[in-house]
Parts: sequence; C-alpha cells; structure tokens
Amino acid sequence: MAEDTPQDIPFDKTFDLAPGHAEACGPEGSVPVRRILCNNPSPFTFKGTVSYIVGRGKVAIVDPGPEDPQHIAALLDATRGETVTHIFVTHTHRDHSPNTPALKAATGAIVLAEGPHRHARPLNIGEHKPLDSSGDVNFMPDRRLADGEVVQGGGWALEAITTPGHCANHMAYALKDTDMLFVGDHVMAWATSIVAPPDGAMSDYMASLEKLSKRKEQIYFPGHGREIRNAPEFVQYYIRHRQAREASILHRLAKGEADIPTLVRAIYIGIDPRLTGAAGLSTLAHMEDLVARGMVATDGAASIAGTYRLAG
Ligand SMILES: [Zn+2]
Repeated sequence: MAEDTPQDIPFDKTFDLAPGHAEACGPEGSVPVRRILCNNPSPFTFKGTVSYIVGRGKVAIVDPGPEDPQHIAALLDATRGETVTHIFVTHTHRDHSPNTPALKAATGAIVLAEGPHRHARPLNIGEHKPLDSSGDVNFMPDRRLADGEVVQGGGWALEAITTPGHCANHMAYALKDTDMLFVGDHVMAWATSIVAPPDGAMSDYMASLEKLSKRKEQIYFPGHGREIRNAPEFVQYYIRHRQAREASILHRLAKGEADIPTLVRAIYIGIDPRLTGAAGLSTLAHMEDLVARGMVATDGAASIAGTYRLAG
C-alpha cells in the first residue's frame, strides 16, 4: 500500500502489464522469475498486486494476492504442467495474503511467512483502528520463518529477511545466488510505502531500510509496480526522504504546536486527496517515533487526534 509520490525520489510509474498474464521479469541466465498482475487497481495498490512465480518446474509463488478467484485461475494457468511447492507471503495486508488458502487447496503447497497478522504496538485506550479492515487476521502460515532462514526449493533458494515497519510481520525474500530480492511493500518504484500505526511503526521501518541498504542485491521486485534496479541506491533515496519529512515536521512545530491535519497540510504538498488519510497515519507514525525519542511532546500517548509541540 502506498502513501504519496514526493519529488525527492526518482519514481518510475511505467508498468503496463495486463492483468492475468505471466511475464518473465528476471535477468537472463539467472533463476527464472515471472510476474502476474492481479486486477485490483486503486490509489493504494497502483495497477494492482503483483504475484511472482520463482523457478521453473517446481516453483514458489510469492504473495497470492487478495481474495480473487480470477487471479487464482491465472496463477494456476501460468504454472500448468509445473508443481507449486511453496507459497511465500510478505505480509498480511488484504491485498497480499487472502488468496493463500485457495491457492494452497489447489496446489498442496506449504505456506511460509513470518507469522500471523499483528500490530506493531498495543492499541491505545479507545483507539480507533483506522486500517483494521486492511489486516488479514485469518492468515496462518504452515511454517513461520526466522530472519536469515533459507528455504531450498527445486532449483532455487529463498532467504527470509525480517523487514517490519509497513506491517509488523513484513518479510522480504532474497533469491539466493542471484541479484534479486522480493521486497513486498517495503520499497516500491512508483510511490512511498505507507507506515500506518498500529500495523506499522516508523522506528522499525527506518531500521528495515538501513538493513536492506547494506545488502548486495540490485533488483527488487515489489508488491506493486515495476522492479527497482540499482536498489541499494534507491533505498538511500527512501531513507533521505523520511529524514526530510521528519525535518519538515520539526520545522513546522518550531512555529507552534499543531495537530495531525495541520502537519499533513504543511508537509504533503499537492498530495492526491484520496491519500490524505494515509498521509495522516504516516505522520502519526513519525510522531510516535519523535515522541519516543524525546524530541516532541503530546498529552498522553501519541494519537491521531493529538496535538504536538517540540519537547523541552
Ligand atoms: Zn500491498
């Protein structure tokens, strides 16, 4: 799920894959990777959710997508004559995991993920759960993966990389002995990722960006939109963008206390009006982080309805 498309990141919004058609997308001479677009476009999902087929013959599918029988049919069609041995899930938002039980039933594949849906922190008393409908609370993997665990398949191996921040159970998967990494919604070529409490947390998100920036893989395949080439450099843009956003929040608060709608108006210039709710939640994620670091004060726990001022 996306949040905004600011000017300080070199986004690539070209992506003309027709829904339901498998397309080879990896570099030649490497483990074969195909992608299939689900027909669920929206301001949050861009053209829709992208599922990936890893390998040839005995394959893994990364992110079966939202509950969508047509997309299941397309995935089965694309893998006809092959065996789907593994299903990997990057995180439990409703555009990524709800198709898993149907795909498992059709293929008998084992389902692997970091764990069931959970929040990044306990809910505040009386907290409205604005994105609760986005969580797939029914999801349960057959096997939970730990950070660094490697799963060996037929002609491919995937390394699990815990990357909390967008969602507490977010996991990326590196395709071993290649230059490719499946990055879920942590980093995308077309927009910034939403970090929305209570599913998401900004301190975790920044730590996960730093973690990825130290890896060698150059090609990231995200849950929405096209692949990212020169990925470590692109991750640096993401890090600098969040640091700049934090600086504009502090700059605005230096002029006086402000609530979240006021901060969104001050820092998200020219945002798609349909994304202002998401921008408010990402701003809340910054406020939680700034309050925890003692730089900003508010009354009680940081909340979407709170008023914020510089600490001290
Ligand atoms: Zn998504």
